[in-house]
Amino acid sequence: MAGPVDFSTVQKNILQSDALHQYILETTVYPREHELLKGLREKTNKEHQLALMGVPPEEGQLLSIILKLINAKKTIEVGVFTGYSLLATALALPKDGKITAIDIDRSAYEIGLPFIKEAGVEHKIDFIESPALPILDKLIEEIKEDQLFDFAFVDADKPNYAEYHERLLKLVRVGGMIAYDNTLWLGTVAVPEDPSLHPILKEGRAPLVKLNKFLAADPRIDSSLVSIGDGLTICRRRY
Ligand code: SAH
Ligand code: CA
Repeated sequence: MAGPVDFSTVQKNILQSDALHQYILETTVYPREHELLKGLREKTNKEHQLALMGVPPEEGQLLSIILKLINAKKTIEVGVFTGYSLLATALALPKDGKITAIDIDRSAYEIGLPFIKEAGVEHKIDFIESPALPILDKLIEEIKEDQLFDFAFVDADKPNYAEYHERLLKLVRVGGMIAYDNTLWLGTVAVPEDPSLHPILKEGRAPLVKLNKFLAADPRIDSSLVSIGDGLTICRRRY
C-alpha cells in the first residue's frame, strides 16, 4: 500500500507539465467549445501568422463562465484580432447583450466575422476600428451612470494598459469586472530582463511588471492574477 502523501513536497503550482495542460483541454475544454469558436480558432491558425495572439480556448471558457455568473449584459473589449474572445463573449451574453469592440485594425476581424455571423450573434457587436484611447475618452464624456459596462476585456497594446485602467474604472460599474490579458508575458515578468529578449517581448515586459505591481496595490479594485493562458488579471471595481 502507498504511504501518506508528503504534502510539504507537493508543488502548489497548477500546471506542472504540457501533459496536464493537454489533459485540461481534452477533458473539459474541447468537448464544450462551441463549434464556431473551434472553426474561428482553426481558421485563424491556418490564415494568420500571429494566430498565437488569440485567446486560448481554456481562457475563453473561463471568461464565458464569468460573464454568465455576473449576468453581464453590456461589455467592452479592447483588442479584437480575429475575434476568439469576442465570439466567446457574444455567445455568453443574453440575446439583448451588447459589446463595444475596439481594434486599431479591422483586417484580422474580417477573418473571424463569418463565424460570428453564422453563430447569430453579430447584432450584439458594435465594432469600432480605431486606437482605443480616444474612443474610451469619448465614451467617458457621453456615458450616463445607468449605462456603465458590466465587464471589460483588455487584450491590446501592453504599454497602454495603465491608461486603459484609469479610463475603464470610469466606464465599468461598481461591482463590475475588468480583465487584463497576458499579464504573465510568457513568464518574462518573473525573471530579470534578458538583453537578448525579442524587441516585441521587451516592449511589453516593463509595462506589465509595473502594471502588475500597480494593480496589486490599487485600492479601487479587488484583483487576482490567474495563471491561465498567458496570465489573466481579473479585477472587480470596488467603488
Ligand atoms: N482578444 C483577441 C486577441 C487580441 S491581439 C483574440 O482573442 O483573438 C491584440 C490586438 O490589439 C490586435 O488585433 C491589435 O490590432 C490590437 N491593438 C493594438 N494596439 C491597439 C490600440 N492602440 N488600440 C486598439 N487596438 C489595438
Ligand atoms: Ca492576448
